[in-house]
Amino acid sequence: MLDAPEVEELTPPVRTLMGPGPSDVHPRVLRAMGTPLVGHLDPTFIDLMDEVQELLRYAFQTENQWTIPISGTGSAAMEAAFANLVEPGDTVLVPTNGYFGYRMASMAERAGGSVVTVDAPWGKPLDPADVQDAFDTHQPDVFGFVHAETSTGVRQPNVSDLTAIAHAHDAFVIADTVTSLGGVELRVDAWDIDVAYSGGQKCLSCPPGASPLTLSDRAMDRVLSRENPVRSWYLDLSQLEGYWGDDRSYHHTAPITNVYALREALRLVAEEGIEARWNRHRRVAQSLVDGLADIGLERYADEEYWLPSLNTVSVPDHVDDGQIIDRLLNEYDLEIAGGLGDLAGDVFRIGCMGHSARPANVQYLLAALDDTLE
Ligand code: PLP
Repeated sequence: MLDAPEVEELTPPVRTLMGPGPSDVHPRVLRAMGTPLVGHLDPTFIDLMDEVQELLRYAFQTENQWTIPISGTGSAAMEAAFANLVEPGDTVLVPTNGYFGYRMASMAERAGGSVVTVDAPWGKPLDPADVQDAFDTHQPDVFGFVHAETSTGVRQPNVSDLTAIAHAHDAFVIADTVTSLGGVELRVDAWDIDVAYSGGQKCLSCPPGASPLTLSDRAMDRVLSRENPVRSWYLDLSQLEGYWGDDRSYHHTAPITNVYALREALRLVAEEGIEARWNRHRRVAQSLVDGLADIGLERYADEEYWLPSLNTVSVPDHVDDGQIIDRLLNEYDLEIAGGLGDLAGDVFRIGCMGHSARPANVQYLLAALDDTLE
């Protein structure tokens, strides 16, 4: 017999989350998570699924019928998008201007696609002219781009230009909206995006675990008429359709508590109004950027494609970024992050997402950073 381990009751520190995600969870979302579990086929849960789908359509600004939360984190929704849209032998165009384009490449390859790239430096958005060239050269079947690149703090502007290029070539567009959904202007239908996926733990201020995904009818037709079965059983949308479509039949046990949380987070979005919410993120993040400039920290991304939900600021020459990040966490219970990949050591990444995008958080962060940098 093994001895029973003695483990203390959970008492996590109360942090202020201003990093690249997760963000502070709204108390109403935490309360929703403390409500009793029902079965994943309980009639009340079935009704709740409809509500979540309706609320998700509002957040994505889409009428796509096929709009669901995928069980798992943002990467699960991302993998669902690539695994279902990409068939073996397809050419898949992905960007190289940030960390998550590389993850797209890896997922597309695992789905049997051959990957080609459209390049831009880390810290810059894609140029539509380069996307046009890449389409003319490679004739890809699927094009993935990152609307809000969490590794660089860059927002991809000109989304409609990119989707127009792709559609002129009969390709499908997959948008990574993990750090934009619910915080930064995103219009899936108006911008003609075929597939968009996201995560709960960024601008929706929900714990990770149920991740939004939406597909147009055209994209779903492609999925349902695939020649080869999707390589993942769990993420195969033609199977998941039985649960989230009209039948509501068992596929896997939905993460019920996470779906409760997402529902409450999306209710908060609907109550605030999506445009008001985009404006709040912009306003609060602008005060953050202004305050950072006052203490000598300059924004890294240009104003033109600045991403209010994730602010990259240059690390001053004499400063050890890791030491600052550690001190903020240990002395102030405040989380921010350093740079990733090409930007490691060069930038701080400061999130301003969802319930974290509040003036009080900004003031606290600025005061703590000012103290720490002295
Ligand atoms: N895409 C982007 C732009 C992200 O920022 C993240 C997470 O930070 C992901 C995808 C993956 O999401 P997750 O970590 O929830 O699996």
